Order: sequence, then C-alpha cells, then structure tokens
Amino acid sequence: MPPSPTVRTVIIGAGAGGLAMARELRRSGDDDFCIFERSDAIGGVWRDNTYPGAACDVPSHLYSFSWDTPRWRQRYATQPEILANLNALCNREGLEPFLRLGTGVERLSYSEALQRWHLELTTGETATAQVVISAVGQLREPFLPRICGSELFEGESWHSSSWPTRKISLEGRDIAVIGTGASAIQLVPEIAREAHSVTVFQRTAPYVLPKAPPWSQPQQLLFDHLSFTSKVDRLLLFLRGEVLTAGYLRSHSLSKRIALTCRTYLEQAIPSPELRAKCTPNYEVGCKRILFSSNWYPTLLRPNVTLVANEAVRLDADGVFDADGQHHPATVVIYATGFQGQSFLQPMEVIGQNGQTLREAWSPYPKAYFGLAVAGFPNFFMIYGPNTNLGANSVLYMEETQVRYIATAIRYLHASHFSSLNLRRDRERSFERWIARRSKFTSYTSGCRSWYVDTQGRNINNWPSFTWNYRRKLGQFQSSDYELR
Ligand code: NAP
Repeated sequence: MPPSPTVRTVIIGAGAGGLAMARELRRSGDDDFCIFERSDAIGGVWRDNTYPGAACDVPSHLYSFSWDTPRWRQRYATQPEILANLNALCNREGLEPFLRLGTGVERLSYSEALQRWHLELTTGETATAQVVISAVGQLREPFLPRICGSELFEGESWHSSSWPTRKISLEGRDIAVIGTGASAIQLVPEIAREAHSVTVFQRTAPYVLPKAPPWSQPQQLLFDHLSFTSKVDRLLLFLRGEVLTAGYLRSHSLSKRIALTCRTYLEQAIPSPELRAKCTPNYEVGCKRILFSSNWYPTLLRPNVTLVANEAVRLDADGVFDADGQHHPATVVIYATGFQGQSFLQPMEVIGQNGQTLREAWSPYPKAYFGLAVAGFPNFFMIYGPNTNLGANSVLYMEETQVRYIATAIRYLHASHFSSLNLRRDRERSFERWIARRSKFTSYTSGCRSWYVDTQGRNINNWPSFTWNYRRKLGQFQSSDYELR
C-alpha cells in the first residue's frame, strides 16, 4: 500500500540524506511521514553516476554515517558498493513502506490559514504535510556547456552522470572527454584501456594527490572483526580532512605545503616537462576541489591519450574544435562537465508565505540559515542546502548534523503544540553576514572558476569553516531562532 499522501512530514528525495532523515524520524518513534522520490530507485547521486570507475575518493570509513557500520570491502568504496550499502540501510531500517518511487514533487506551496504545505506531484496527485524536508542534493542536474555545432555531431554523446544503460562498447573508438574534474579523472583511466584514442579537453588543471594504497589483508581483517579499529581510522581521516580544511581557510603556510605536496607528486608522476607544464595548476590550492587519484597522471602518459590544455568550443560532424581552432576527431563525446550546483531545488517550485517563491527569496543568490532554513518558509527544511558542501571532508558528516537538528525541531514542534516554526529574519541576516565575512578568508573565493562560487565570486555552496564548527554551532536546536505559531 502506498503511504497516505496526507502526512505530518514529507521528505523529498531518497538519496543518503533523505534516507538518514527517514531513519532518524523512525528512531524517534515518528512514522507519520513519506519519502517522495522522482526516480524509480533510491540512491541519489550513487544511483545516477554509473560511469566506469565511479567511486568515492573520500575513504569509506569517513564516507559513512557515524551510526552505520558497513563492512567496506576497500579503502575507497566503488559506486556499486555504496549503492548496495544505501539499499541495505533502507531494508535494515524498514524504510520501504514509506517510499513513493517514481513520484517527483513539482510544486509546493504553504497555506498560512491551514499552516500546512500543499504538494503537487508529477503523478498528477496532490499531498499535504505539516513539515517538508528537501533532500534533493546539490549535484543532481547535469551541466552541459553551450558548445556550438553540437547538433552537427554524428557520433554519440552523453553526460558522465547519464552513462548509457545499454551495453556499450568503447573498444576501438575515438573518444573526446570534456572536463578534468572529479568525474573525468575517474572515468578516463577506465575508458582509455579499451578506446583507440582518448582526447581530454582540460580548461583548468586540477591539483591532484595520490590515493592511499588499498588495505592490506591484515588491515581488512582488523576492520572486519574489531569494529572499533574502523572508528579509529575514521577519526584519523576526519582529522586529516580538518587539516586540509585549515589550508583552505587561508592558513598560508599550510596551503603552500599542500600545493607543494601536489607539485612534488606531479614531478614524480610526469617526466615530460611539456606535459607537466600542462598539468600545473595556476590558482590557489583548494579554490577548486583537490582530486585524489593514483591513475590519472599515469593515464595521461598512455600513447592513446592526449591532453589538450584548452577549452572545447565547437563540434562538427566528426570531432571537437579547441579554442585555438584545432580539430580533434572523435566518434564519441563524453561531457564530464559537472552539475548545476547552484540551482539547488530547481526545477521544483517552492512558494512560501505571502506567495513569495524560493527563487525570489534567493535573488540575487541562494542562502539559508546553516543551509537548512529560510525565513518566510515555515516548517520547511533542507538537507545539503547552500553553504554546506565541503572542500576536504565528508558531506555525510554535515548531513548527519542537519538530520539531527531537523528531527529535534520536529520533535519540539510536536511536543510544544505550536503548529509552525518560521526562521527569524534577523537570524537569517546575521548568518548571511557571517558567511560572507568568513568566505573572504577561504581559498574558495580566491579567484578561480568553480561551481562553489557564483559569477560575482560569492561563495554559494561551501561551508567556510571547519567541519566540527558546523556541528558545534548547529548542535543545539534553539527555538528562539524561530517565530512560533
Ligand atoms: P566539475 O568538478 O564541475 O568539473 C567539470 C569540468 O568540466 C571542469 O574541469 C571544467 O573546467 C570542465 N569544462 C566545462 N566546460 C568545458 C569546456 N567547454 N571545455 C573544457 N572543459 C570544460 O564536475 P564533476 O567532475 O562532475 O564533479 C562535480 C562534483 O561532484 C565534484 O566537485 C565533487 O563534489 C563531486 N564528485 C565527487 C566524487 C568523489 O569521488 N567523491 C566523484 C565525482 C564527483 P573548469 O575547471 O575550467 O571549470
């Protein structure tokens, strides 16, 4: 039986954040909720990104919720392993009965009179709820650059997050890959093994560090049988992430050290001065995400791989032109060009008090109190909203903090017999000023092009402080931050 569309709480999205939220509600004895998921399966980004080599470059013990203790099979879990773990979590916590798959939310509007949200679903149905929690993530809608002539291209093309589900052979093909972000550096080494040629278009060279080696057999046995050892490993990884973060918070000596470590690795990995020059980043370390890969540079040394240190600007029937007008033949074009990280909840339309849309409230830029609440949108929360992405630690740690906070807010709402919580504008403004002030001192705003900042160079996506500081600041739900009705 599908869950009733009139529930106390609706969660939108069944990725890691949405599932963790559902688990938290169930654990607090609240079964009056449902999860709307637009796709036919759970998993979010780990369901969508099935490109060859898809994995998490954050080590598995850190890329886990603290209450979850999966027996990871490797130091860096692959996409199938992470997706299997999310499915196992869904089973273990008995979340299936609360799921409505294939049901997207198109529009939600708040009724002041009823103090409830009214949801319009992609199935043509409607639903109402007292509380709505959006857990749709930041990296959902693919970004496809406008490259002229793309309609003339006679080969096949796709985005890294829409890898063809049919069995596709890349053997003997000439492949152009546009982009050198986290997705590209995972998929290129895999496809280069079978392709005739791979031409990689790199607009900006990434900073790269090698991954730690795979676990030895004794390590694997230790983690499997003495679970506290994986907790110790997690703590060490977390601290390492915070040290990297210190480098991004403009600790000049530390960021210089991180950059030097990357350069030393580059020098060891790439003997050719010409190729090394192409691979040398020309911006402050941390401004874009540092990439962790032990096979990216070795792949660039392969005879069938060419790194074009230039933008892809035009396509014709049989290839790609770079910005210097040079033509590179290709029968397949793979766009590893990232996501519309600042569109957040779009295309969903959210209408709050007085008919104001979230899009209007977010003009000229998206912002939210600790990334999770917006004044004028009562009883509406977000997981992984603006300014909650990280440069060097685990986003799941942030999501876990948000989930606990939101569950406490909901419990408070029910226990206090108030019907709505509406963020106070003064709290929103002072938080916004804090974000702007802190962001000035981070490498995120040091001047490169990245999905973390908008066209004005404002930090929209990242948390501009230490990860522990987010948990410390958000640890206690304060009802005084809200207007209560
Ligand atoms: P991305 O980091 O935004 O990279 C997009 C790439 O496309 C950039 O290198 C960009 O160049 C390039 N590009 C765009 N248009 C181009 C053009 N016309 N010609 C040449 N290059 C062009 O996207 P992503 O790799 O999909 O990663 C997005 C985020 O997903 C990551 O930051 C990370 O948070 C997450 N992710 C994580 C993992 C993991 O292992 N944890 C793996 C994959 C993705 P510029 O740099 O010059 O803009």
